[in-house]
Amino acid sequence: MANANSAHPGDAKIFVVEHLDPELEAWSSLEYSAIASECSATGAKFLLSSVPEQLELPENLQQAKGLNIEHRSIETVFADQKDRVCLLDPAASKELSPEDGDRFHVFLFGGILGDDPPRDRTSELRKKGYEGRRLGPVQMTTDTAVRVTRMIVQDRVPLEAIPYIDHPELKINKHESTEMPFRYVKGKDGQPIMPEGMVDLIKKDSERGFGDLL
Ligand code: SAM
Repeated sequence: MANANSAHPGDAKIFVVEHLDPELEAWSSLEYSAIASECSATGAKFLLSSVPEQLELPENLQQAKGLNIEHRSIETVFADQKDRVCLLDPAASKELSPEDGDRFHVFLFGGILGDDPPRDRTSELRKKGYEGRRLGPVQMTTDTAVRVTRMIVQDRVPLEAIPYIDHPELKINKHESTEMPFRYVKGKDGQPIMPEGMVDLIKKDSERGFGDLL
């Protein structure tokens, strides 16, 4: 039987987030729906893989345009195309370049809540043997990592030409602010690009204190 995810030269790129947490937290659901809408707007395919069968998707994801849910893992879905899969890996020794867009067809990310300091859960995917590329030395949120990868491999913008904001400070209320321990893409308005609804969620969560984040 033909695999609907098979790669052919010239095909749209496939961005795969392998969901590695047992739950799907509010943070992740906002990130995933931002990835889905940006991929669908730019002609890319987004696959959220390894989603447990019994996991009920939050409402915003059930309606997200451009979201393809896959219960199988990356290894099964792309079993016959391992050498065309690039793992975005903060520990890789080589940075992602526009030419990698010619070499790889599938770009793989860890669907992990970011943490500070990082616990290197991307290693769960690294040990499967995919070739890795780094997006610079600073930890990004998953949606930022996908956004940056799309800019590099689809728009062919070099990694170092993308404007970033590191560790932005968000105002929680009149007296308090919180520093996000991640790198973001700088938007046209000069602000870090974040999924819709994320700032409100951060404000709500910061009242409870941070542990695991995005
Ligand atoms: N603390 C994390 C860990 O345990 O590996 C990083 C998780 S990050 C929030 C989620 C995913 O975004 C990673 O698994 C990786 O695919 C991608 N990512 C984030 N920053 C990256 C970077 N600087 N280089 C390459 N990939 C990155």
